Amino acid sequence: MSLDGLPTLRAALEAHGLWAKKSFGQHFLLDLNVTRKIARLAQVGDGDHVIEVGPGPGGLTRALLETGARVTSIEKDQRFQPLLGEVAQACDRLALVFGDALAADEAAIAAGAPAHVVSNLPYNVGTPLLIKWLTGPWTPASLTLMFQREVADRITEGPGERAYGRLGVLAQATCRAERVLDAPARAFTPPPKVDSAVVRLEPRPDRPSPERLDALQRVTAAAFGQRRKMLRASLKSLPGDGLAGEDLVRAAGLDPQARAEVIPVDGFLTLADAWLAGR
Ligand code: SAM
Repeated sequence: MSLDGLPTLRAALEAHGLWAKKSFGQHFLLDLNVTRKIARLAQVGDGDHVIEVGPGPGGLTRALLETGARVTSIEKDQRFQPLLGEVAQACDRLALVFGDALAADEAAIAAGAPAHVVSNLPYNVGTPLLIKWLTGPWTPASLTLMFQREVADRITEGPGERAYGRLGVLAQATCRAERVLDAPARAFTPPPKVDSAVVRLEPRPDRPSPERLDALQRVTAAAFGQRRKMLRASLKSLPGDGLAGEDLVRAAGLDPQARAEVIPVDGFLTLADAWLAGR
């Protein structure tokens, strides 16, 4: 059988007696036009390797396979084994891994070659998964990810914008991040309570070292932890007995009276460097 010979997603779910479970954050994309659009936005094709988290009934999986890419899909819900097994039978470029993506070893899955991550992420683990891919030892070639709209804004907005915060600084210090598609709640089955959006992240060639990223996270945790305070006050709470508070802000060449929400990503990197240098 080929991909074309597979039953519709709705028919496949029905044939296997499957329904969406809230505990797994399951909201399915059953319209192949939408999943094809996401696959196009991922810019993957022949010869690429895609790691997909949470294939569920396999709508996005099918669209990714249609591009010619090789796909490894990681699914936690074991109920989907028979249904996804049929997709793997129809296309030998699909490999299935059943388990928790938070514990997955992407470097081993990618086997030393570049791999792109594409996923309609489960809401309950979307942010921890993103942080793993942004900070972990393994660097994806690109990330094309569906999040709740509010999380997508936190990832992509900049200084002075409503959702700018720790996650945005981390994402934009490590990647070029762009919101590339809005998906209304009605696009999903069952519809979630809120709208969603797809974010595409391309890792920067000058991605900060693990030590610099760790310092960046400490500085942004302190600065945004008390976001109403001026930096000279919020940065007093940094761990260790190195530079902190006003001394640190001045060493970074920033205004001690500024608040975290107006500091650009580069400013936070300078603060992280000044903190590392002053330890
Ligand atoms: N990709 C499918 C689609 O677009 O229709 C399903 C998306 S649904 C929002 C999220 C999927 O992630 C579900 O299939 C769910 O079982 C799976 N999932 C939830 N937590 C997971 C985890 N920790 N590791 C791997 N998969 C997980």
